[in-house]
Amino acid sequence: MAEVGKSLHGTLFGQKTKGNKCKSCDYPLEIYEIDFRKNKKMLKCQRCGLYHYYKKDFVGKWKLQKVVKPDLQR
Ligand SMILES: [Zn+2]
Repeated sequence: MAEVGKSLHGTLFGQKTKGNKCKSCDYPLEIYEIDFRKNKKMLKCQRCGLYHYYKKDFVGKWKLQKVVKPDLQR
């Protein structure tokens, strides 16, 4: 029970206090695409355009999977 409370606390406060930031330039990321079926989301850096792929793990936390340069998308 204590672990459930702890993870819930982390989810509630983690999202409010600090947003996701770019691994390259530390600029805030904007949501580019979310796939709720696959529990995946894609964020894009507002400054350098770097794509950040996140996947939700079994406790419902978003984890960074990979970072892709915009050039490689095309
Ligand atoms: Zn960036």
